[in-house]
Amino acid sequence: MKPPNRVSDLECAICGSLSCKTFAPQSLFFPAASSNTVLPKHTNYLCEACGIVFMHPHPPQELVTKYYNEVYRESVYAIHHANGVADLPVQFPESAASFARFSNFIQCVEQVRKKYPGAAPSSHDTVIDIGGYQGMFLSAASQVYGCDGIVVDYNERGINFSQKALGFTRSSVIASLYDYAPSEPAKFATMVHAFEHVDNPRKVLDHIKRAVLRPDGYLYIEVPNLFGSSLSDPVHYFTFSKESLRYTLEVSGYQVLYLETGGNKHAPATINSDELVLICLARSVSTPKPSQPSGAKNTASLVQKNYAKLSRRAIAVQFRTAGNEFAKAIYYTIGHFVLEKLSTDLQRTVAKIKKWSGLRLH
Ligand SMILES: [Zn+2]
Repeated sequence: MKPPNRVSDLECAICGSLSCKTFAPQSLFFPAASSNTVLPKHTNYLCEACGIVFMHPHPPQELVTKYYNEVYRESVYAIHHANGVADLPVQFPESAASFARFSNFIQCVEQVRKKYPGAAPSSHDTVIDIGGYQGMFLSAASQVYGCDGIVVDYNERGINFSQKALGFTRSSVIASLYDYAPSEPAKFATMVHAFEHVDNPRKVLDHIKRAVLRPDGYLYIEVPNLFGSSLSDPVHYFTFSKESLRYTLEVSGYQVLYLETGGNKHAPATINSDELVLICLARSVSTPKPSQPSGAKNTASLVQKNYAKLSRRAIAVQFRTAGNEFAKAIYYTIGHFVLEKLSTDLQRTVAKIKKWSGLRLH
């Protein structure tokens, strides 16, 4: 008989194990259920062998494409008209956040280049940003390292912007990543908050290794961290911990050079923490070392415990913000009455001076 909670017909896409069980740690700040009304509801599962968390079922591809091209990228300022939708060419704060994420890249490659000098892009290199939308991340890359960039994304509007506004003329709209290959393999590929959206991480890593990167190329990945993010996003197909991301990369023929947790200072203060994301740099290798899945002992209780810790921190941030606002209100209230009083006193002083000096001012 099946153990309760176990879903034997679900095979882990990372390690092939059939030991996958439902996984739903949650709290007020980290909900497990999606509030999206366009895409069908999903359930998250944990692979007990490799620790990957994945959602099932995936929504139909037509719905996902529609979602990415419409709702996902649509700003609150969008104008719906008879012929379609007009929207802002640049969307703040999302576009700015994409640009700002480059600071994690700098921190990572500057650390790695101490041991591997080629790990940072130069003015001779091209960085291919997979899922890079408008190219804001590459804009930061070209300003910092002088490199060229190619954005690859499903979103036509984003690619137009990257070509025309940012000058990444080789950027291209793709229907499927598996059909994409640059005319010349690149030394760097980046996937910044894109890898959690792919339907088959190992297949994507294999394709990047074979068709996108040079044999010694580097792949930079930033994804939400299992221990610091909620599981409610209906298009986050996989959620990684440090251990499961390392295993996924190693078993796909990459050597992990850097893998740390980090934050995003532009994320809402209640959500941001130094455990919000995973920052990773890996190198494609011809003879990968054998890798063993780390298991998932106590993962559910550890994630739940971390949610509780981060929720307490979020509440403390709310109180600190409220305290600062209250202190400001007191400051302005006192300041207002003191200044008014001073002003009355000043008027009287001026009147006295006028009287004493016999001046007549009009
Ligand atoms: Zn697995």
